[in-house]
Amino acid sequence: MQTQVFHTSNTTLTGQTRPLVGVSSCLIGMAVRYDGQHKRQPTLLERIAPHVQLLPLCPESMAGMGIPRGPVNLIQDGDQVRAVGRDDPERDVTGRLRTMGQIVGRTYPALCGYILQSRSPSCGYHSTPIFNADQSSVLHNQGNGLFVAELLLRFPDLPMLDDRQLDPDHITLFLENVRQRAQRMQHE
Ligand code: SF4
Repeated sequence: MQTQVFHTSNTTLTGQTRPLVGVSSCLIGMAVRYDGQHKRQPTLLERIAPHVQLLPLCPESMAGMGIPRGPVNLIQDGDQVRAVGRDDPERDVTGRLRTMGQIVGRTYPALCGYILQSRSPSCGYHSTPIFNADQSSVLHNQGNGLFVAELLLRFPDLPMLDDRQLDPDHITLFLENVRQRAQRMQHE
């Protein structure tokens, strides 16, 4: 898997190890979205990046879906949620996105947190629209992206933050939860 860790060093100037935190790579300015754009969040880079070792990942481009690519929606299909093309419903990428979550979970057992793009069919956390089977209406807006759903199966307590929560209170709480998780892992 081709990835890039955002800091060249995983230690601070005082020699402490920075906790490993995954991030939707579009949030740090990588132009990996379906439309070839990014969603750079300066606050994330200024307030969070200095305290952690960021691991930028784009599950859709890692899954070989290309940049740009056709947009995908999540649909409720019986008791399953599937990811299908908005304009080409025959295109089903459910397995690819779930597999990316499983691979990342296995590859990075030291993950201490994750920062996510909301509403994404891959990266959304309690924020992704779930459509009915023919995508004609939204059933609810609290779905998890399929990549995130798999990560949560592996790490049910992983601290999560999304782009709608980049305010001082949420950031402080997130960093504290990340720090505590890192400490617990050191003592295991
Ligand atoms: S899959 Fe995730 S990281 Fe990639 S563009 Fe969509 S929201 Fe960003």
